[in-house]
Amino acid sequence: MYIGGEWVKAKSGSTRDIMDPGSGEKIAMVQECDRSDVIHAIEAAREAFDHGPWRKMAALDRSKLLFKVAEGIRAQASLLAELETKNCGKPLAEAEFDIADTANCFEFYAGLAPKIHGETMQVPANMMSYVVREPIGVCSQIIPWNFPVMMAAWKLAPALAAGNTCVLKPSELTPITALVLAQIIHDVGFPAGVVNVVTGPGVGAGEEMASNPKVDKVAFTGGTVTGRKIMVGASGNLKKISLELGGKNPNIVFADADFEAAVDGALFGAFANQGEVCSAGSRLLVEKSVHRKLVQAMLQKIPKIKLGHGLEAGVKMGPLVSKAHREKVEEYIRIGQTEGAKLVCGGKRPEGSAFAKGWYLEPTIFDDVKPNMRIAREEIFGPVLSVIPFENEEEAIQIANDTEYGLAAAVWTRDINRAMRVTSAVRAGILWVNHYHPTFNELPWGGYKQSGIGRELGLYGIEAYLETKQVNINLDEAPIGWY
Ligand code: NAD
Repeated sequence: MYIGGEWVKAKSGSTRDIMDPGSGEKIAMVQECDRSDVIHAIEAAREAFDHGPWRKMAALDRSKLLFKVAEGIRAQASLLAELETKNCGKPLAEAEFDIADTANCFEFYAGLAPKIHGETMQVPANMMSYVVREPIGVCSQIIPWNFPVMMAAWKLAPALAAGNTCVLKPSELTPITALVLAQIIHDVGFPAGVVNVVTGPGVGAGEEMASNPKVDKVAFTGGTVTGRKIMVGASGNLKKISLELGGKNPNIVFADADFEAAVDGALFGAFANQGEVCSAGSRLLVEKSVHRKLVQAMLQKIPKIKLGHGLEAGVKMGPLVSKAHREKVEEYIRIGQTEGAKLVCGGKRPEGSAFAKGWYLEPTIFDDVKPNMRIAREEIFGPVLSVIPFENEEEAIQIANDTEYGLAAAVWTRDINRAMRVTSAVRAGILWVNHYHPTFNELPWGGYKQSGIGRELGLYGIEAYLETKQVNINLDEAPIGWY
């Protein structure tokens, strides 16, 4: 692990085997931290924030370091992409996209670092009153396994640009690329303790990161149930919190949409990254007049989605991240069948020797799903699509909003007025019209309702790592004369 500018072992001597989900084989062994290692990392970050050179460093110099991290990532892009694919299973082309985006994210915030600024206010007194923006302090950053290095960038880049110090914990399943990133950060010359990376589980280690009183802010991406626990842990010293949580996102197709584009958008929205995407279009709402035709068109295209090890050429869907996760997704497939939804494709492990060892699952579609079924309400986080027919726009909006989540949604229509009505009515943080999934570092990412608190990325993302201080300088030199 990377703590206080050094590579260290877990105090307990524990280690964890890291697996390739595509082959079921061990590919690495990492240190397994517990609370004591996390406390060590938090103390290093605290020391670096309170007494290190980081806070006094000119924003322009922080910016230069962040630009160098982006360069370092690009220099090692092929290694990082290969490791990402081997560790979390995603197809190499997607991993390459993630690495490019990771470098862009560091560059975006490198550019922003020297632009953080306050303002002066006219107040009804003889005062010079101004507002300054300052870093919050020590940030615990806890991330999931589906976009390991990209999530690390979304957390680290804005926090560092704003002048904070960080303890990052990748998912215990996918820690490898975060460790390579730590080496890049070390090599470009960040002061010791500004970035610390611990590898280990949520229970114990993650809990310590959320609750430790020396931490000022906790930023978390992961499941909604874990998010609630993080809030409770963070409440002890009222840490600032940012939560990016789950979703059960409606992808709404109207009869007037470009049909072929909608079919592609439905499949890509549901099955890209094996459906292991918080913003996946896992509920496909289709206007009744095109419903059967659209399902048939999807079924014709499904065989073209090549399943295989992420490093194999042309693969579009890799394995699920772990054996346990595949079992969880399979349990939902059983639930869907028991609930009476119509399984129209997939639902099982692919056959053949190529799939014998990894944790593969076929793309799965349930048709005629009722909005009250569990497969329409709960986040499955795998390649399972629930198709729900609707009668008219009003019903589409009602079904779309009938969820505890509010992360993302898409609308397919050629009617601009309808597109604007629906995007306005759907209560979610990320909306697409006639597309699915594109994300940009420039825009705020995050959810309504139980999909989270706060926003990452863009200018909003840096706000989440800044405190706001007002300063009032009395320009009257006379005593107050109060008594
Ligand atoms: P998870 O909640 O199980 O774990 C996420 C991280 O939290 C891991 O690092 C884990 O070790 C840690 N953790 C687990 N229990 C903890 C605890 N009690 N205290 C502190 N830390 C703890 O989620 P996951 O299975 O890794 O990822 C899948 C979830 O992440 C899905 O629900 C998905 O929607 C969500 N996600 C959301 C976004 C977003 O931007 N909104 C992005 C990606 C993933």
